[in-house]
Amino acid sequence: MKAVIIGAGMGGLSAAIALKQLGIEVEVYEQVTENKPVGAAISVWSNGVKCLNHLGLEREVAALGGIVETMSYVEAKTGDTMCRFSMQPLIDEVGQRPYPVARAELQLMLMNAYGLDDIHFGKKMISVSDGSDGATVEFADGTTVTADLVIGADGAKSRTREYVLGGPVTRRYAGYVNFNGLVEIDEAIGPATEWTTYVGDGRRVSVMPVAGGRFYFFFDVPMPEGAPYERGSAREVLAAEFADWAPGVQTLIAALDPSATNRVEILDLDPFHTWVKGRVAVLGDAAHNTTPDIGQGGCSAMEDAVALQYAFRDHPDDVPAALAAYQAARTERAGELVLRARKRCDVTHAKDPEKTAQWYRELRDEDGTNIIRGIVGNIMGGPVT
Ligand code: FAD
Repeated sequence: MKAVIIGAGMGGLSAAIALKQLGIEVEVYEQVTENKPVGAAISVWSNGVKCLNHLGLEREVAALGGIVETMSYVEAKTGDTMCRFSMQPLIDEVGQRPYPVARAELQLMLMNAYGLDDIHFGKKMISVSDGSDGATVEFADGTTVTADLVIGADGAKSRTREYVLGGPVTRRYAGYVNFNGLVEIDEAIGPATEWTTYVGDGRRVSVMPVAGGRFYFFFDVPMPEGAPYERGSAREVLAAEFADWAPGVQTLIAALDPSATNRVEILDLDPFHTWVKGRVAVLGDAAHNTTPDIGQGGCSAMEDAVALQYAFRDHPDDVPAALAAYQAARTERAGELVLRARKRCDVTHAKDPEKTAQWYRELRDEDGTNIIRGIVGNIMGGPVT
């Protein structure tokens, strides 16, 4: 059996590794010409780490991961700690430490695990079609490839999704822009092994450790979609937006490298439950495009990959049955995470200011129990228990 995977992001690569482990012949096609992921880092929560462990990458992901011992919320302007608590109860409950990791390093690790030389770079899919004997992908360079199945792991603007759903969809602007990057750890910003989040005015500024003595940082700034921005001006923009925030935030703004700071408008997509058409299926952001507010988009893509592996393990010679099993295993769980993230996003970014004010009050009384319960709720329910 031969599978073609479109997209060498974390979803496509995890799926490629997962199918290859079953002995399926896998070919990965990626439109970019080199490994240049957008975004600085991601938090791979315990469910994502468990999927990577399942794929045999336990040591590799641990080597890239930052150690988060504690989590805290800090009042935006005064810098006063609203709450601080240990992550250990979470780790004990779910049985796996989460790992914030630099995105490029995660990507490269997955590429190496699959086989870097086996990825066809510079191959942009322009169409996919389906027949009784195979599915065929056409690339912008005029070439085609046919396989028993095609997995569209082609991200949030997926063409495969258009094929599967029979037309384009409209994504929803979530109301804010996320600036992110990496800086050297500086305890003037936050403790070295803490995920620190400054909150106020429906905004947040956050740092968490990744391997190599670095903080992954991000700033959420509510603003209209399509607001003008000059590349490289992150420091000026953030200095103006966060002028009256605490000294730790000012230290971070001074430390960041504006030329390496990403600016991403955050969108998501209403969950949908058709992920398969014939021999073609979507996976990762192509199937469930979420806001990053609970840090589950990439983890969910890794869950898809393991679920796909289980589906082909259980239906080895039957593509329609395997893809149906994959779809049945995933749509509800992934859709629920999208809606959870949307809800969290609205509270964090003051869609209803009273609800956000209530959240800030709750943070001052928090001992970690409620926050950990919420995170555990996101983590549980994946294919690897
Ligand atoms: P992508 O990573 O988008 O990869 C898709 C790949 O397909 C790309 O390489 C692209 O070039 C390629 N491609 C697209 N179209 C074509 C085509 N036509 N032909 C060939 N190739 C094509 N998730 C978490 O789990 N934790 C987090 O902490 C987290 N933080 C985030 C923070 C931000 C600011 C954002 C925006 C997202 C965050 N996410 C997080 C979500 C996560 O980044 C995505 O869910 C994840 O990247 C999805 O992986 P993917 O492989 O499905 O898609």
